[in-house]
Amino acid sequence: MARAWADTPPAPRELYQEGHCRSHPDLPPEAWFPAQGLGEVARQARKVCRSCPVRDLCLAWALEAQIADGIWGGTSPTDRKWITTSDIPAYLHSEAFA
Ligand code: SF4
Repeated sequence: MARAWADTPPAPRELYQEGHCRSHPDLPPEAWFPAQGLGEVARQARKVCRSCPVRDLCLAWALEAQIADGIWGGTSPTDRKWITTSDIPAYLHSEAFA
């Protein structure tokens, strides 16, 4: 079950400092929070995540914090739900969504 944002642990500082989503020239920050499902802009956001230097950290935090919204570490909320209910070792998750 997802946590309320007020109860969510703060995101690692590296995401704010090094995450490609923070200053991407072609995509607005909203691209990482699609209103419904995965539209084209969210797919583009996921592509940006693939080359992000803090991607593994981002995904690990999103899983630990049970973030229910948005694109984190290249994964959608549905992806993360699948990850948390699968038997696949955690270290393989970022490869699965490359
Ligand atoms: S992996 Fe994606 S969502 Fe996470 S910091 Fe990088 S660009 Fe942003």
